[in-house]
Amino acid sequence: MSDNSVRPSWETYFMDIAVLVSRRSTCVRRAVGAVIVKDKRILTTGYNGAPVGLKHCTEIGCIRETMKVPSGERHELCAGLHAEQNAIIQAAFHGVSIRGATLFCTNLPCSICAKMIINAGIKSIYYLSDYADAMSEKYLKEAAIELIKLDAAAGAGENACPSAPEK
Ligand SMILES: [Zn+2]
Ligand SMILES: [Zn+2]
Repeated sequence: MSDNSVRPSWETYFMDIAVLVSRRSTCVRRAVGAVIVKDKRILTTGYNGAPVGLKHCTEIGCIRETMKVPSGERHELCAGLHAEQNAIIQAAFHGVSIRGATLFCTNLPCSICAKMIINAGIKSIYYLSDYADAMSEKYLKEAAIELIKLDAAAGAGENACPSAPEK
């Protein structure tokens, strides 16, 4: 009795999960979700927030917010890890190889994440929203990482709010 006409594509399915994962974010500025997939199977997930045991920006505030640091700059000021970083770290934590995998991320990765993605062996990236970091696309292109922007209106991420409005 299932209605196959509403069955989502693999791309929509994984991106919808990335959007769902982003809802666990504890960043006061932007909620990002990441899912690492290989052979149509989810290996790891990640959202942006402080490392285990450290206080979250939602509890103590974020110095980047206080200092009005523009999006994409001075990441070192905040204890938060990015969603993509947490997804890669989760692979290390559990000893899972993500070589040759695909990343689904609600946002285009920043340049720091881009460098990690390249050396983690991830080969392609699907994303929904852009990110203010001129270097990351340059790095990914140079390393021949496939970069695919999904149309949020076309299904993936619909009904979702991957990004808190930039303040
Ligand atoms: Zn923060
Ligand atoms: Zn990043």
